[in-house]
Amino acid sequence: MSDNFLDYLVTNARIVEPAGTEAGESGADYYGSLGIKDGKIAVIYPASGAGTANVSGAPPNARRVIDAEGGILTAGFIDVHAHSDNDIPCAEKLLAMGVTTAFSGNCGLSPVDFKSFFEEFDRTAYPVNQAEQAGHTELRKAAGQGDVYAPVTKSQLEKIKALAAEAFDEGASGFSFGLEYAPGAGGEEVLELAKFAAERGRVVSVHTRLNKVNDTDSLKEALDLSPRTGARVIISHLVYMFVGDGLKRAIDLIGRYRAQGADVWVDSGMYTAFASFAGSPVFDEPVFAGKGFSVEKLRAATGKYAGEYLDLEKYREIRGEFPRDSFIYDPGKPEDILTAYSLSDVMVSTDCIRYPAGQGHPQGAATYPFFLRLLVKEKKRLSLGEALRRCSAVPARALGYAGKGRVAVGADADLVVLDWEHLRENAEFPGLGDPDAKPDGIRHVFVNGAAAIENGKRTGVLSGKNLRRGNA
Ligand SMILES: [Zn+2]
Repeated sequence: MSDNFLDYLVTNARIVEPAGTEAGESGADYYGSLGIKDGKIAVIYPASGAGTANVSGAPPNARRVIDAEGGILTAGFIDVHAHSDNDIPCAEKLLAMGVTTAFSGNCGLSPVDFKSFFEEFDRTAYPVNQAEQAGHTELRKAAGQGDVYAPVTKSQLEKIKALAAEAFDEGASGFSFGLEYAPGAGGEEVLELAKFAAERGRVVSVHTRLNKVNDTDSLKEALDLSPRTGARVIISHLVYMFVGDGLKRAIDLIGRYRAQGADVWVDSGMYTAFASFAGSPVFDEPVFAGKGFSVEKLRAATGKYAGEYLDLEKYREIRGEFPRDSFIYDPGKPEDILTAYSLSDVMVSTDCIRYPAGQGHPQGAATYPFFLRLLVKEKKRLSLGEALRRCSAVPARALGYAGKGRVAVGADADLVVLDWEHLRENAEFPGLGDPDAKPDGIRHVFVNGAAAIENGKRTGVLSGKNLRRGNA
């Protein structure tokens, strides 16, 4: 487009720039208007008139003017730990929370054929931007080792590398491990694959082994990958892995590695109750009991018993007959969530995954408003700027997205406008409520400069980009 019209002018906004350079340091917080053109932030007019814009004088004409009504205008949220994997309902729930980018393919779970996976994304169009990692467990299976309890042979390891190289050539953005789901993977296998990914400039995300509850040895294994291979390591969903005193020990350990210069990043959700497939090794009877978990505290997330607490008979029935159903187990306490975010730069993540409608885990529909409500509004543990930083600017840095996670002229127009007063999550665990319920207070969302949500209503626009990563 060659005219001077803005695509949108968002007026009357409280603009909160989430990007600071250090922990605890967020950017400016001021009233003003913001113009969008061709997918980018084209101009910002502070209400003071001081002018940080790249044009002078009165605002130019805009095709659309949207009144933010004093709402908080900030960078769209970047979900660093998603399992959206081209699933549209999953991405729609993310969008409804203000997420504009999903970093998917976590916990060792991903497609193997990235060419057709990316073609599918391009063909169907998608509500949010999405990047995809190559998942260790899936590549391992494709390389001929379907037994998660068995080690790989040398030739299988070479095959995994070849598949990873193909995925990277197609544009995969990282390499993910789900070691708790692949206990047979040896230390050398993990080390060699992390090195392979690091040499190709990919982040390595690790769902740790967790041999026992609060197993800091397995956390150490994951953290060591950074100094040993040069990889940027993302420790996945801290609070699902660690609770109570073990969480405090994990935080101390991460702090020590960071102090020594290790390139380690951490994401966490808002729940201590984790969900996984019933057939997962996590729920194998000896493993489950060995962790001190009890069947009576286990809930069905999906399937015929969705929302119900289980007994031994139902547990065995589901595991035997419906291994793709999901269980929910809560080993923690509510204060663990606050402890997890006390570690600096912990990024907010959902762990969202495809579930049958009305079943599953509320994390995919509640996490961001829940985080902002609890940590900022209610408990006042984080300032607004710092909390927003954890949702966008920190993940943008961890993932190397220079154009995202900030509200500045020239940045990608991935933006959210929050109605702060009414912001709250509504999704609940099955049995208690609707795990898909949309939050309140997400007023407008822009993805690549197009309004995907306007006045709280979905517009139907599918403007998410396929964030293929180049090898260069
Ligand atoms: Zn995981």
